[in-house]
Amino acid sequence: MKIALLTSGGDAPGMNPAVRAVARSALAAGAEVLAVREGYEGLVQGWVDALSAADVGGLLDRGGTVLGTARSAAFRGAEGRRAAVATLVNHGAEGLIVIGGDGSLTGASILSTEWAEHLRTLVADGVVTEEQAAAHPRLRVVGLVGSIDNDFWGTDTTIGGDTALHRVIEAIDALTSTASSHQRSFVVEVMGRRCGWLALAASICTGADAVLLPEAPPPDWRTYVLASLEAGRAAGRRHSVVIVAEGARDRSGQPITAGMVQEVLRDVLHQDTRITVLGHVQRGGAPSGFDRIMTTTLGVRAVQEMLEGDDRAIVFGTCGPDLVRHDLDEAVRMSRAASDAAGTGDHERARDLRGDGFEALISLRHILGRPAASPPESAPAVLVLHVGAPAPGMNAVVASVARGALARGWRAIGASDGLRGLLAGDTVELDWMAVDGWVNQGGAALGTNRHPVDAALVVPRLQALGVRSVVLVGGFESIGVAEQLCAQGVPVAIVPATISNNLPGTWRSVGSDTACNAVLEAVDRLRQSAVGARDRVFVVEVMGRRCAALAAASALGSGAELVFVHEDEVDLAQVERASRSLNADFDAGRAVGLVLVADGVDAPYDARSLSRVLEAESGGRFDTRLCVLGHLQQGGRPAPMDRLDGARLGDAAVRWCVEGGTDAVLVGLEGEGVAVVPLPEVLAASDPVHRRPREPGYAGVLALARRLGLGLL
Ligand code: ADP
Repeated sequence: MKIALLTSGGDAPGMNPAVRAVARSALAAGAEVLAVREGYEGLVQGWVDALSAADVGGLLDRGGTVLGTARSAAFRGAEGRRAAVATLVNHGAEGLIVIGGDGSLTGASILSTEWAEHLRTLVADGVVTEEQAAAHPRLRVVGLVGSIDNDFWGTDTTIGGDTALHRVIEAIDALTSTASSHQRSFVVEVMGRRCGWLALAASICTGADAVLLPEAPPPDWRTYVLASLEAGRAAGRRHSVVIVAEGARDRSGQPITAGMVQEVLRDVLHQDTRITVLGHVQRGGAPSGFDRIMTTTLGVRAVQEMLEGDDRAIVFGTCGPDLVRHDLDEAVRMSRAASDAAGTGDHERARDLRGDGFEALISLRHILGRPAASPPESAPAVLVLHVGAPAPGMNAVVASVARGALARGWRAIGASDGLRGLLAGDTVELDWMAVDGWVNQGGAALGTNRHPVDAALVVPRLQALGVRSVVLVGGFESIGVAEQLCAQGVPVAIVPATISNNLPGTWRSVGSDTACNAVLEAVDRLRQSAVGARDRVFVVEVMGRRCAALAAASALGSGAELVFVHEDEVDLAQVERASRSLNADFDAGRAVGLVLVADGVDAPYDARSLSRVLEAESGGRFDTRLCVLGHLQQGGRPAPMDRLDGARLGDAAVRWCVEGGTDAVLVGLEGEGVAVVPLPEVLAASDPVHRRPREPGYAGVLALARRLGLGLL
């Protein structure tokens, strides 16, 4: 089968990993891939060439699209699309994979509908023969959504959205530190002409004072902005940030610009106010871990659909960790309807069409964004504390628990250094300002430790503090601690926060995305260091102990040739096979290799030994270099996904407490939403000996990483 592939519309980081995945998996399945250059313009003009596996090497960490993208006016007309049909038929393409935004996917949908009609005309005009037409009765079309705006219906993420959010929060984090020094206000314009997701998510990830979106105009935006900023300053904030989506509108559908917001802040509040327009920076840079992993999975699935699916034009999106498949026409229609509604000021309909995930973020923003007074001492309290190792995003959870509690009339108390701190009387009342700015800080500001304590001693302490419920923010040990506290009659909610992502009951834990990004950044640098020095294999040890989740995600995101994890029960035969395949790869021309080893793989097959053995058995083909990433992986500012997850889960946990939750639960991620899982279910699903889930959700990612790494796919 010949599959044509193009990227179209606005470029988005992650398009390249998708191109790589499509090409590699199609070639491995014996199909041919035709690269169409410069989007639809290339189809109209006939700019098509065959892709080889080598053509798509080294693409995982490159932003933009190597296929080129353009806006094609010709393709908007029937004549242009007829030329496109001729190009596809003349190159023998039976299928077309389009990676682009709603405009591009609209074009794909129209092309597939009009196919037969154009073919008839082309035969009549003598451009294609009867035989060619008979061999191409229809075109298989699969769409993947490339858009930094996350504006497509029926998917909770789009290719490039997470990377763009990385760029936005890096910029706002940087602005906040200077803004705070000068007590300034910043108005930040974020991309999103018809969709406010980027602005909304950024406002939660950075703790901005106010946000203006196309889909959710306040009754009077000036009053909203002024009141939000005044409340922030009254609470003690030294700076203010207002995020304005490019397409923000008021209730009457009139645009609200960054300049208009600046004017209000200057004229009414007399604040030193600066505007920052982030512009195309948001499209740039290396794709984030999520945008490498998710797009790789999508690319592979798109090819599978091409080879095995029916002739319906379809589009793939995501729902949490899963891929979802929609009819292309319907998805395009609904996406267009949402954009039109946002553009014409019908915000209720726009919000409706954006879906539950969007609505949930708006509610979260309302709860966390508004300064709330501390309730009286007699009010019930929630105690929040950490268990286990620090993970980036833990502070975001605590901030969300605290502000979520205050917004609901409860007090929030933090215990320093976990339960030990509680017993030592080392607790702190978390008022609204106490957690200000925590959302973007790495580490665990409250402190954490793993030391066990006598749960019976905890209860009187909790009673003395007026604590009704406890939120544990931490790793696998939280399960045991929750069991003990629950046995003492204390209601407990666990929020999973560990870079190992080894808790059952959630598909992602807070901190794991940052850790994966840290691994990928380090590996990108290692690879670059070897550009001039050929014949090198890096053996990189990553954290995770006996759970392969981090190693699997890092392997798929980095394109590692091999990955060793504890679950494999590594033995000599496996090492021998790995060595042979790596040697064969170098014989075939590989210059630099990457092997990931989880730190739970025990001697004698740990990373150090593997590095030595692979080199010794390479027959002089390559040298190895061992690199132990260690605590690099636990540090750093949390990635946007961990901030968002932290905010969502912290708030959901405190909601459970306030609503009178009893016994013990784990508040985790399920699909695109949040799920409250009773502790007995968590216990039944966990393997306490190896501290990992019994049925690992990461098995598919690991298998895919391996097949792609060895070129078996
Ligand atoms: P995006 O795909 O990022 O939304 P555009 O809206 O600019 O970007 O669309 C990219 C290209 O897709 C356009 O230049 C055009 O060639 C094609 N396209 C968009 N809308 C249509 C349409 N309604 N009919 C046919 N082709 C379209």
